Amino acid sequence: MTKKILILPGDGVGPEIIAQAEKILSFLIAETGLAIELDRGLIGGNAIDETGAPLPEETLKKANESTAILMGSVGGPKWESIDRQLRPERGLLAIRGELELFANLRPAFLFSQLLKASTLNEEVVSGLDLMIVRELTGGIYFGNPRGIRELSDGQREGFNTLVYNESEIKRIAKVAFETASKRQGRLCSVDKANVLEATELWREIVSEMAKDYPDVELQHMYIDNASMQLVRAPKQFDVILTTNMFGDILSDLASMLTGSIGMLPSASLASDGKGMYEPVHGSAPDIADQNIANPLATILSLSMLLRYSLGEDKLANMLEQAVSQVLTDGFRTKDIYSDGMTCVGTDEMGDAVIKTLSTLLV
Ligand code: NAD
Repeated sequence: MTKKILILPGDGVGPEIIAQAEKILSFLIAETGLAIELDRGLIGGNAIDETGAPLPEETLKKANESTAILMGSVGGPKWESIDRQLRPERGLLAIRGELELFANLRPAFLFSQLLKASTLNEEVVSGLDLMIVRELTGGIYFGNPRGIRELSDGQREGFNTLVYNESEIKRIAKVAFETASKRQGRLCSVDKANVLEATELWREIVSEMAKDYPDVELQHMYIDNASMQLVRAPKQFDVILTTNMFGDILSDLASMLTGSIGMLPSASLASDGKGMYEPVHGSAPDIADQNIANPLATILSLSMLLRYSLGEDKLANMLEQAVSQVLTDGFRTKDIYSDGMTCVGTDEMGDAVIKTLSTLLV
């Protein structure tokens, strides 16, 4: 049966990086007969400009009808001063919430060819391969009440709510335990249970669930210590399970271990198997429209799509192999460039991956 993939380029560098993944997808369809149909939609700032809403009804309808969604990034200075409810990032939160994409998988894998691109010592990051499992549709980013109000003394007060119920914690912890048992069997749950009640419950539930996964070694860590440990000795981690906000921050931190945020893919999964795939980075307005953004995070997100939503493990492996080969061949975008390598633009990097893929497909 033909499966539908919805492509949402978004804003800033979004259209440039998505164009590379789309090129690869079209190549795979042509070369392998992959039975998928592509559609496109608006999200974020460009959707606001065209329809007045960051997540238009039509995009949500298309997303509901798709097996998977491949997204670029949203946001930018152009939309920073508009009403908070209508900002591009709200479109992203809304699609995650509407499709119940509660499980965000963020692998941080260091390609050995990029050892020098990391700001950390080679021995600290060499061989790094960890997975962050971030809760994505709950916690402080979604909790109510929220807002900015005026107090009786005339000053303004900003407020948000950190809330997690048992079933939200259980479903994300289940994904993390299962992920750990398929990897090295080590799970570190990150919270702030010493200060925040919502994460005290989080710790309690994760501990209870450990009994059902005897093959997984569970450890708990406070977010402040986890941030330090990630920089000090990141290879101690196999799978990190954490809340929405802590995961947001830790995964950006983890990106620098791998050399560049332009290398980190992500998958956001619902319990019905639907998935949205996007790079971890934002719309990078500072480098948009210059053909210098690194498209590899998006291309690796496509490989996660092939694996998790289409069950095309062989093609996913091949795409990852092609990315690795392109790095071995010395191709680098500006963010991962080092002396002696060949500096290429966004488009050329996409072409190099296709060229290598074509040699692997024969
Ligand atoms: P960002 O991730 O866009 O950029 C941070 C830094 O990383 C910048 O210096 C940028 O040039 C660089 N960078 C990012 N992607 C890169 C790539 N592919 N290749 C090379 N360098 C890259 O974060 P920001 O600057 O804090 O946010 C910019 C906008 O993106 C904001 O509007 C923010 O709200 C939005 N945002 C969107 C998402 C998303 O769509 N998922 C995520 C984070 C931020």
